[in-house]
Amino acid sequence: MKRGDKALVVFSGGQDSTTCLFWALRHFEKVRTITFSYGQKHSIEIDAARKIAEMAGVDFHTVDITPITAIGKNSLTDTTVVMDSEKPETGCPNTFVPGRNLFFLSIAAVYAREAGIHDLVTGVSQTDFSGYPDCRDSFIRSLNVTLNLAMDEQFVIHTPLMWLDKAQTWALADRLGVFDIVRNSTVTCYNGIPGEGCGHCPSCLLRNNGLKKYLSDRESILLTVSGI
Ligand code: ZN
Repeated sequence: MKRGDKALVVFSGGQDSTTCLFWALRHFEKVRTITFSYGQKHSIEIDAARKIAEMAGVDFHTVDITPITAIGKNSLTDTTVVMDSEKPETGCPNTFVPGRNLFFLSIAAVYAREAGIHDLVTGVSQTDFSGYPDCRDSFIRSLNVTLNLAMDEQFVIHTPLMWLDKAQTWALADRLGVFDIVRNSTVTCYNGIPGEGCGHCPSCLLRNNGLKKYLSDRESILLTVSGI
């Protein structure tokens, strides 16, 4: 049984949000996507998102929030910053875009409100969160309350990947019947290379290690996730 009639997916064209898009299509009658342009070095991400949305037959909407994310210095939007190859002992890696999920979800909620949508879906995960504070469950719950208070609405933020590791996220894509689409058509790589990516940036390492783990123990990891 579907949970509701309409949902809005915060969508980047990467592994996680693409899996969430197909999760949402199982749970909601009508699904829309919202994609943010925030000065990413690689516009190929947005092209990939557009193509996947077309493939899935859902509305695709982009919003440019470059001015707000450009205030904080990070290696995903600033070509002068050399990307951290791993998480530093203290603090976040410089691939962290300060406020990104706060802005994404807040703007998504305003857009959803205008469209009469109360269900928001985001692919954040606390399990493999790379030290990003805005991927944690406590942040999402807090923001959910704040958005409802801010707009006197009853939004529900869904986080299907919150407690899954990357291998289980692959398993979920498999359960949803979109393993090949996620594997071949998404862009997760911080260097903007589709599919398996460059293989050495932190995002590729996380994705490819998860894939390797999943493929080495597919049947048993598949049992740990439910697509419905
Ligand atoms: Zn990469």
